[in-house]
Amino acid sequence: MNETNTQYGGRPSLPMQGVPQPKRDEVLGLPRVHISTHPVMAHKMTALRDKNTQPPEFYRLVKEIGMLLAYEATANLTLEPTDVETPLERMTGQRLAGGIGVTPILRAGLGMAESFREVIPDAQIWHLGLRRDENTLQAMEYYNQLPHKVDLQVCYAVDPMLATGGSAIDAINILKLRGIPLLSYVGIIAAPYGLLKLSQTHPDIDIYVAALDESLNDRGYIMPGLGDAGDRQFGTF
Ligand code: URA
Repeated sequence: MNETNTQYGGRPSLPMQGVPQPKRDEVLGLPRVHISTHPVMAHKMTALRDKNTQPPEFYRLVKEIGMLLAYEATANLTLEPTDVETPLERMTGQRLAGGIGVTPILRAGLGMAESFREVIPDAQIWHLGLRRDENTLQAMEYYNQLPHKVDLQVCYAVDPMLATGGSAIDAINILKLRGIPLLSYVGIIAAPYGLLKLSQTHPDIDIYVAALDESLNDRGYIMPGLGDAGDRQFGTF
């Protein structure tokens, strides 16, 4: 990882050094922000954060936490009536109205996309590759497998770490161009800075996270956080 940002020829600095950040309390009441209060989630989060948790276990926990988040984030989906025949008689059941899309922001979002597929097996997975420049923390698109034909009631952008908010904001911008009626962001840990930026830039989306942490360090990592969510899932240290 590069230590410094010298691209403008000035004094070497780290990307978040000296950048004012909101406190946790200041973002807790943001509209459309949902921070999980489920005790099972809190239990799993502690295991996920533990530096001794190895990649196979870390990936399994990401998937489990993602499934709990998927249940929370899908609680308000629209249903439509549908006929079903039980072994005994016909009845009117319900099914989800319109397709469900999940956009994992590569590569850290892949584990959470698996979670959504466990909960909704026929969800479409729309891969989006956004890499953040470690000096500027700007997100750059390098891969886009979004389909041309769109028939979704909702699409969830999933990425475990909402740090500066750059990738999440860009992902939602890209998805908005597809004309999907409802968009949500689902993450595992948010920093107050990224949460505020995302919520202010896209006040019309719901944001679901398992935990809200304290701050970003000078390099843009969430504190106390869990380190690099991609490296810890895929063992690339
Ligand atoms: N991305 C990560 O994987 N971890 C952080 O703390 C911030 C961004």
